[in-house]
Amino acid sequence: MSKPRLAHVVLGGCEGCYVSLLDAGEALLPLLEAVDLVASPLVAEDDLTDCDVCLVEGAVTTERDIEKLLQARKASRTLVAVGSCAALGGIGGLRNLSTRTEVLDTALGVGERPTGLPALTARVQPISDFVTVDMSVPGCAPETETLLEALTAALEGRDWALPRRNMCDECGRTKIKLLEHSSEFVSDSVYAIMELDEIDPEVCFLEQGVICMGPMTREGCGARCTVAGVPCRGCQGPSRPEFEQGGKMVDALAAVLPAGAIMFMDDLVGTGYRFSMPISIFPTIYDHGGDGDE
Ligand code: SF4
Ligand code: SF4
Ligand code: SF4
Repeated sequence: MSKPRLAHVVLGGCEGCYVSLLDAGEALLPLLEAVDLVASPLVAEDDLTDCDVCLVEGAVTTERDIEKLLQARKASRTLVAVGSCAALGGIGGLRNLSTRTEVLDTALGVGERPTGLPALTARVQPISDFVTVDMSVPGCAPETETLLEALTAALEGRDWALPRRNMCDECGRTKIKLLEHSSEFVSDSVYAIMELDEIDPEVCFLEQGVICMGPMTREGCGARCTVAGVPCRGCQGPSRPEFEQGGKMVDALAAVLPAGAIMFMDDLVGTGYRFSMPISIFPTIYDHGGDGDE
């Protein structure tokens, strides 16, 4: 009996999702023996035809990405969006706050355009804007275990669903007065983490005046950041696709912050939409009707 054909296609991202998969180490060996790996950064020449499962990592950022993605969809029975770039647009989606010209001038120097660069799309988009996605594993990068579970289910033709609760449900920090109105919530700035002498490792960050995106973020990573003493930055995106991650966070903060404090946040968009800007309703260059070059 022939083995299932597995492909792994990389679009615009940092390849950190791929590294997360490689982090499985020896656990990958039986999986690799059970499949024909027909396209991947691991194989010399891709054969993107007749695939049972195709993992797609990275967002659509160039015209070349669109071609590759359409080819992957056409060739695959089950297409899996791997990582927040593919599923939500990801951190690179903050590029949508700038025009293509601004982005290229900043990255390469004003007017500098080396030959051979793939043409940037007007904005960064999740792959679901172009193709049907059968399974989605957000996270930047997704947990290795979660990736393996989803991949195994896809290869076996089983359904696999993401958890639907928010990060606070799996975070072990004590929550006593979470989101209780307090004029003590912030010091001079909502970015209080550097200003506090001491952070209690057992207590919710929000209760200590430190922004944490946990309430508006999907659980599933084991709260790995808050366990490590760092607030959640929201990398798994909203717990429901219909939730506006940044908007709902502002809504929640507005209930507790002193009047007007939100206005003093240095980077409201980068905080609330760091990983989900392209799926948000937040105005972008594109949504203003521009083509990204003006
Ligand atoms: S989701 Fe994160 S880790 Fe994965 S490609 Fe995008 S930036 Fe890299
Ligand atoms: S806000 Fe952050 S620190 Fe507080 S319970 Fe939620 S995830 Fe944990
Ligand atoms: S705690 Fe938040 S930022 Fe950290 S890995 Fe989990 S979802 Fe991502």
